Amino acid sequence: MSLETYVKKRDFKQTSEPKGGKSDNKTLSFVIQRHHASRLHYDFRLELDGTLKSWAVPKGPSLNPNDKRLAMMVEDHPIDYQHFEGIIPNGNYGAGVVIIWDKGTYTSLAEDRKDDIKQLRAGLKSGNLKFRLDGDILQGEFALVKIKNPKDDNAWLLIKHRDEYAVDDFDSEDLVPDAVKKLKNNKEGKAKALPKQHKVKEFEHTEGADENEAEQRFTAYTGKEVMLVDGDKNDVSKTYKKLIAELKVIKREAVFEGEIIKEGRTNKFKITDLISLDEHDLSSLEPKKRSKLLAAFVQQLESELIVLSND
Ligand code: MN
Repeated sequence: MSLETYVKKRDFKQTSEPKGGKSDNKTLSFVIQRHHASRLHYDFRLELDGTLKSWAVPKGPSLNPNDKRLAMMVEDHPIDYQHFEGIIPNGNYGAGVVIIWDKGTYTSLAEDRKDDIKQLRAGLKSGNLKFRLDGDILQGEFALVKIKNPKDDNAWLLIKHRDEYAVDDFDSEDLVPDAVKKLKNNKEGKAKALPKQHKVKEFEHTEGADENEAEQRFTAYTGKEVMLVDGDKNDVSKTYKKLIAELKVIKREAVFEGEIIKEGRTNKFKITDLISLDEHDLSSLEPKKRSKLLAAFVQQLESELIVLSND
């Protein structure tokens, strides 16, 4: 848990990489940096016990459960490294181009957040570390599993678990702007600074990957408690975070019926009926009047995800 190795490898008069930093002790953060040094790789870092546990992933992380990515464990990095991006000058350790590819918070798979640290420590020690990421790109369950290989004690595999965030076609490089890909600080080039446009592209998550759900009827509740419930009366709000965010715009107490349709990577809630409004049951209202009321309501929303069904 010491930063000794990290500090030893670097000359802080030359590199702008951070020396230390303190955890906020509220949530555990994670960061993935794309690091184009002598070889391109991604650095996967998880905050634990006041430091960033670090793995170098040559092929980059993936949301495809079939991609088992080699992850070489490297020395602990200081907490402030999670904010670092820039050029590590030539002649220095890791000389190259670093951008933040993804960041966010993470937890263990324990039900109670109080158990996170204990579980994560145990996973790290046993070589089977399971966790849930909440990043801009990477979400859901992952595992880092140590390869039992007496020759190389640092080799792990980074694996995405099959869940609603899994994607079968994924390439981390697709999200990297061309301006960054061109930039090199090695034999092939001498980059001085990051280009203005160095932020990775937005990744649109496919929510609710279960195809069958498109056939189901869903009920949406708005107002004080915003909720999406499927035909089996299961609360599926967590699966459709984007739709929930849009539904929160509706301040009035209402109950809608509709279906969730996947269009490309996007889920849309197509409303077929307005069941109640401001706690008034509308079922006795003439269907024509009801659909007029509903149309006006949905139009006001100006949402691209909450739309009126054409049927
Ligand atoms: Mn690196």
